Amino acid sequence: MQRLTLLGATGSVGRSTLDLVTRHPDRFSVYALTAHRNLDALIGLCLAFRPEVAVAADAQDAARLHARLRQEGVRSEVAHGPEALCEVARSSACDRVIAAIVGAAGLLPTMAAARAGKRILLANKEALVMSGALLMHAVAESGAMLLPVDSEHNAIFQCLPQQGTARNGVSRLTLTASGGPFLTRPLDTLHAVTPDEACAHPKWKMGRKISVDSATMMNKGLEVIEARWLFDMPDECIDVLIHPQSVVHSMVTYADQSVLAQLGNPDMRTPIAHALAYPERIDSGVVPLDLAQIGALTFMAPDPVRFPCLRIALEVVRAGANAVVLNAANEVAVAAFLEGRLRFTGIAEVVDAALQRTSGPDPYDLESILATDRRARDIANAMVIGTSTTK
Ligand code: NAD
Ligand code: MG
Repeated sequence: MQRLTLLGATGSVGRSTLDLVTRHPDRFSVYALTAHRNLDALIGLCLAFRPEVAVAADAQDAARLHARLRQEGVRSEVAHGPEALCEVARSSACDRVIAAIVGAAGLLPTMAAARAGKRILLANKEALVMSGALLMHAVAESGAMLLPVDSEHNAIFQCLPQQGTARNGVSRLTLTASGGPFLTRPLDTLHAVTPDEACAHPKWKMGRKISVDSATMMNKGLEVIEARWLFDMPDECIDVLIHPQSVVHSMVTYADQSVLAQLGNPDMRTPIAHALAYPERIDSGVVPLDLAQIGALTFMAPDPVRFPCLRIALEVVRAGANAVVLNAANEVAVAAFLEGRLRFTGIAEVVDAALQRTSGPDPYDLESILATDRRARDIANAMVIGTSTTK
């Protein structure tokens, strides 16, 4: 029986994970569930899964959660705040940590799990983008295991050689991308798209931040950085390819020009099930792939004019630095867009401007990473205020 800590239980990845827990009660039990603002959803999950620990955002939420659970006869211990997230991530009572918090808020608990030698199922790509070498070093030192849940990276992991050095004979990685909801929308209308339009992803049902990142293709830029660290691959050997059907989840090219791909319907339960059970395979509940019905799979190169965020992210990757600034400015800009304070096209402008104005971390340690993150957020916030939404 594997005992899980689920960071970000109320989110899209969190719920897909809990669906798999429900399908395999003989394999998985829930040690801890955490959530941020959606307290009613967390209460519902605690009533259904009865974790040993539940972590809410703050003291007020924790008091409400505690009262409600006791009322229903559920004895879960209730905690709150960032340090409690780290505690459930490093606890000796759990074997696997699902890192499914969105954004930089997931960095410290993911790092805590890495330092404690856990098997980590990584969805929270922002944590790895921010702390790349540091997180990989912590994993290697403690004997932790980092299994990618992001569908592209999970696909690559499945296509890489399972024995010997991972890079042996591997010449390129190709990350596929759906292209998001604005792949064919006239360029001169992009400034006017609404948050709901940006979040209406054609293939994946996801949280709002990653949905906007998919619409700008910043998501793919973050994923190139993620792949660079996960697979220790030079960035010039990582390609991005648009594939609107989202059936081929990514590919690995070998020296002999064999190309291995992983296919499946776009449903996060496949990569999560793979990472949960690895190296075994379990039923995921995902609808079987029917290629005859899909008929055609198409591919095209991404257009840097349509997707300036991807272009900017790839420039950051090539420069080998500033991923912390890129990520922080993007989080601020996406939040502002979702709140109606910034145009869709303003996201790339804010990220670009923040990258011109600051850099770091220097020295390369956790404190400096967090300081760079704060500095970049301040700059990006000031840029958002200075950027008119009516432009
Ligand atoms: P979501 O918005 O649906 O859920 C986010 C979760 O994180 C929620 O449980 C929320 O309560 C929690 N959270 C948010 N802010 C927090 C904070 N400050 N402190 C503590 N907890 C906080 O997001 P999602 O779509 O499930 O994505 C989660 C992560 O997985 C992201 O990093 C995303 O890029 C990655 N990911 C998601 C998908 C997907 O299909 N949804 C696919 C690949 C990767
Ligand atoms: Mg992905």
